[in-house]
Amino acid sequence: MPRYDLHSHSTYSDGLLPPAAVVQRAAARGVDFYALTDHDDTGGLAEAAAAARETSLTFVPGAELSVSWETHTIHIIALQIDPANRVLDAGLAAIRSGRDARAHRIADSLAAAGIPGAYEGARKFVTSERLISRSHFARFLVDAGYAKETKDVFKRYLTQGKPGYVEHAWATLPQAVEWIHAAGGQAVVAHPGRYRVTATGMRRLLGQFRDAGGDGIEVLSASHTPAQFAEYAAYARTFGLLASTGSDYHGPGESWLDLGDLPALPAGVTPVWTKW
Ligand code: AMP
Ligand code: MN
Ligand code: MN
Ligand code: MN
Repeated sequence: MPRYDLHSHSTYSDGLLPPAAVVQRAAARGVDFYALTDHDDTGGLAEAAAAARETSLTFVPGAELSVSWETHTIHIIALQIDPANRVLDAGLAAIRSGRDARAHRIADSLAAAGIPGAYEGARKFVTSERLISRSHFARFLVDAGYAKETKDVFKRYLTQGKPGYVEHAWATLPQAVEWIHAAGGQAVVAHPGRYRVTATGMRRLLGQFRDAGGDGIEVLSASHTPAQFAEYAAYARTFGLLASTGSDYHGPGESWLDLGDLPALPAGVTPVWTKW
C-alpha cells in the first residue's frame, strides 16, 4: 500500500527545513505521496516540486489556510492546488497581510507580562520575510529561557487566556473553500480534534464546511489520538466528507510524529486521493 503524508511545513512558513530537504526526508522515510502545506503561502511549492523530481515520490502541491470561525481559529488544508492561480494567491496575500501587525500585538501582550523584546526576538527565527507566526515567538521564548521546548510554550503563552494571545480575524470558511476550489484544489479541515469545540460545535462546523462545498477532513493527524482516528472517520462518513492524513511535520525536534509515521487510513472512509 502506498504511503501518504499530506500535511507538512517548510521554511516558507514555520517549518525548520527548506522545501527540498523536507521532500528528501519524506522520500527517505518511504512516503510515496507527499504534500507541502505551508501556512498561508505557496512560495515553497516550486522548489519542493523540483526536488521531488529527483526522488520516486509523487509531489502534491498544497497549503494550510488560517480561518476564523465563530470564536475559533480553524485551519483548512488545500490539496492539489495550482500555485499560479490568481484568486488563491490574492486570498493568501490577504491572510498574510495581517500577520505583522498581529505580531506587534503579540509582543505588546508579552511585554505587559514582563517579557520585553519579543517582536525583535521572534523576527530572528523568521525564515520567510512574508510570514511571522506564533511558532517564531515560541522559538524565541525557548531561546530566551521562558520554556524548555516549544510544546511547553503553548501551555503558558500564546494561547487563549495566556500572555501573548491576541484575537485576530483571518479568512472566513466560505472564502477559504472558494479560493481553494478556484485553484482546482480540495479543501480539507486540518486536525479537527484540536479545536476546543463541543460535539454540537463540531457538527455545526462540519455542516457549514460541507455546505460551503468543503471536500474532506483529516482523519489521521499527529494531533489525534487513536480514539480520535475512529471518531473522525465516523464524522467523515456521517458528513459525506473525504478522509485525509498528515503528520503536520515542522522539523527535527519540533513534531510529535515524523514524516510518513501515521498508519493507513481506517476502513470505511473514502480517501481524498480517490478523486485525484
Ligand atoms: P499562527 O498561525 O501564527 O497562529 O501559529 C500557529 C502555529 O503555532 C501552528 O501551526 C503550530 O505550528 C504552532 N502551535 C500552535 N499551537 C501549538 C501547540 N499547542 N503546540 C505546538 N505548536 C503549536
Ligand atoms: Mn505551524
Ligand atoms: Mn494547523
Ligand atoms: Mn500544519
